[in-house]
Amino acid sequence: MRGIVLAGRWIPSYFRMDFNLTDEQRAFQESVRAFARRELEQGAFHRAHVSEFPRDIALKMARAGLLGITLPESDGGMGGTLMDAVLAIEQVALACPRSADVLQEGNFGAIRVLAAFGTADQKRRYLSKVLSGEEIIAVAMTEPNAGSAVTDLETSAKPDGAGFRISGQKVFPNPHADQYVVYVRYGPGVGGIGSVLLRKGAPGFTLGKPSKFLSGADWAALYFDDVYVPPEDVLLREGGFKKQIASFNVERIGNAARSLAFGRYCYTAARDYAGVRKQFGRLLCEFQGIQWKFAEMKVQLDAAQLLLYRAAVNADRGFPAPEETTVAKLTCNQTGFNVANEAMQIMGGLGYTQETLVEYCFRRSRGWMIAGGSIEMMKNRLAEIIFERRFSQRAPRARAS
Ligand SMILES: Cc1cc2nc3c(=O)[nH]c(=O)nc-3n(C[C@H](O)[C@H](O)[C@H](O)COP(=O)(O)OP(=O)(O)OC[C@H]3O[C@@H](n4cnc5c(N)ncnc54)[C@H](O)[C@@H]3O)c2cc1C
Repeated sequence: MRGIVLAGRWIPSYFRMDFNLTDEQRAFQESVRAFARRELEQGAFHRAHVSEFPRDIALKMARAGLLGITLPESDGGMGGTLMDAVLAIEQVALACPRSADVLQEGNFGAIRVLAAFGTADQKRRYLSKVLSGEEIIAVAMTEPNAGSAVTDLETSAKPDGAGFRISGQKVFPNPHADQYVVYVRYGPGVGGIGSVLLRKGAPGFTLGKPSKFLSGADWAALYFDDVYVPPEDVLLREGGFKKQIASFNVERIGNAARSLAFGRYCYTAARDYAGVRKQFGRLLCEFQGIQWKFAEMKVQLDAAQLLLYRAAVNADRGFPAPEETTVAKLTCNQTGFNVANEAMQIMGGLGYTQETLVEYCFRRSRGWMIAGGSIEMMKNRLAEIIFERRFSQRAPRARAS
């Protein structure tokens, strides 16, 4: 048996950390890679420049068992771990960056809140359709006056018989979704926040004119004008906010994984280019100024990957720890964007055109520094962890005269 002697004591190897994937993880990674190359690589360029959500890919992924990877089999999932889902989203992003959004939606986002806290009936009516790839689910959380300060949200849920009437407005969600997990306020304070399930087409639920993010993807405002939600569509009542945010850490892992994978996509494209492009009679990879960029990119990518894997592995089948998630998201967001930016520089004018997907990855990875908890909010959270105290971001109350 392998091991080491420490302070005169034999420590067997199973006490040591293992940075290798297991045989099962490697086999799964390989099978997703093969699927992505066979089914997604062709058409990746086209998909990146279409603003609508790629529904055909959701159906393909459902058939391949790539939706609900982490959900229990009793809920129609695959019974895998968060690490399995991370491996899958990485492989898909490397073949077709845009298709990684489908993996996000079907594994990391609002789907996890629904799976964790939904009733059997809600899972039958909502979750099953997401897992089959027939319907798209999205989170509607942000409001015009409640972005980073999301607990300031005002969309109200007022009792009406056994159900509730929803009034308010959300901004930035995917307008192509069929069902939404809508964060609502039943009462005052953080404790008054929970969520309901709403389908498009519910009377009083309308969408604003679609607009575009820098990435080219669509978003639209959602308007709720006294929308009736029956009791069977209430997901979380008062006190639900903490549960929603705990599961939102899964969303952040998916966000981090895509940032990192997009960075790696650009790094690979730039490395291939630097190996063939000649200037001054020499290959780009022979210039030390370029070599050092690659050395720095590799270190950033490897370091971010370890932090991402730490958060995912430790979560196993549950929700990832807030501290590890925050560190992973912050590092992967910055790394993904920095590497995409450097790769674009290495590829010169070509990198800045739509002849490759490097400029697309650059635009997309920029958004993840804002979405799902901005870089600044991640740093605020880390400061609280470091100093083991809360730092309120709120303006001090006006002094009573
Ligand atoms: C690509 C993309 C996709 C999105 N998808 C969705 C979605 O599907 N559903 C949804 O509900 N929302 C979505 N959002 C919205 C997203 O969650 C918000 O944009 C985010 O929470 C930031 O809120 P804000 O835009 O209102 O910025 P603000 O909160 O107004 O912040 C503006 C700036 O100030 C900084 N800032 C704010 N407070 C502090 C502080 N205390 N300390 C230091 N800096 C601070 C922020 O970091 C930011 O840089 C998406 C956003 C993007 C960019």
